[in-house]
Amino acid sequence: MTSHSPSPDPGSIRIHVSAHLGDGVATLLGADQARYLGTVMRQKPGDHLRVFNGRDGEWRARITEIGKRGAVLEAETLLRAQDPEPDLWLLLSVIKREALEWAIEKATELGVSEIHPIITARSQPARPNPERLMAIAIEAAEQCERLTVPVIHAPRPLAAALAGWAATRSLVAAIERGNDAPPPIAQGPTALLIGPEGGFDPRELDAMRRLPFLVPASLGSRILRAETAALVGLALLQRPRPDHA
Ligand code: SAM
Repeated sequence: MTSHSPSPDPGSIRIHVSAHLGDGVATLLGADQARYLGTVMRQKPGDHLRVFNGRDGEWRARITEIGKRGAVLEAETLLRAQDPEPDLWLLLSVIKREALEWAIEKATELGVSEIHPIITARSQPARPNPERLMAIAIEAAEQCERLTVPVIHAPRPLAAALAGWAATRSLVAAIERGNDAPPPIAQGPTALLIGPEGGFDPRELDAMRRLPFLVPASLGSRILRAETAALVGLALLQRPRPDHA
């Protein structure tokens, strides 16, 4: 939200808000977003930017007031209607903070709708800061021009995430050092499961391979870092079908 570089084109400024957006509707921004607009981006009353909230599409909005404590925008024109987005989850083992944050940024750019941090036997002990992860996802969504921000869930154990898995969602687990096929192209609701730096432990692998709904997948012969595996797996799940190439 605050690290975009200043641009001479106010049309390139794009921020996420939580409030309802509609024709002529005023939106109040807090001090952080006002500082970003006023101090970093040098915006003033009368300047325009784009806003989205994940529900009402993307709007061209005018700044009507801006100060240190906040700002007011008025939505003027609907630029893009809210379109359906992929129903793709990432179940990512809790890994080192920097790697997890990088993966959340990239997963947001790659269109995931939900991110589920997963506690596995070999996960990092530190628990991620949900506000910081959300801020990273919001900034990535603003930058990549998607119309939503992924939901980021609280960490939960692998067994809890797999218990009661809905049969309507495919679960593709990236498992290294196996002879599995590459991830299938996602058709309908799908989730990708990625292990921690140390990999899944043998008992976890055993239990996973016994689940009838779990599709084990290889990402190739090289052992990728967990965050790289997340990016590669998400890209492969969303590759175009050969008949659409
Ligand atoms: N320490 C493990 C080892 O040496 O076998 C490697 C774990 S890897 C760094 C972290 C996670 O990324 C794995 O649990 C798996 O989910 C995914 N991964 C990495 N490379 C992969 C590959 N070639 N195929 C499938 N999954 C892979």
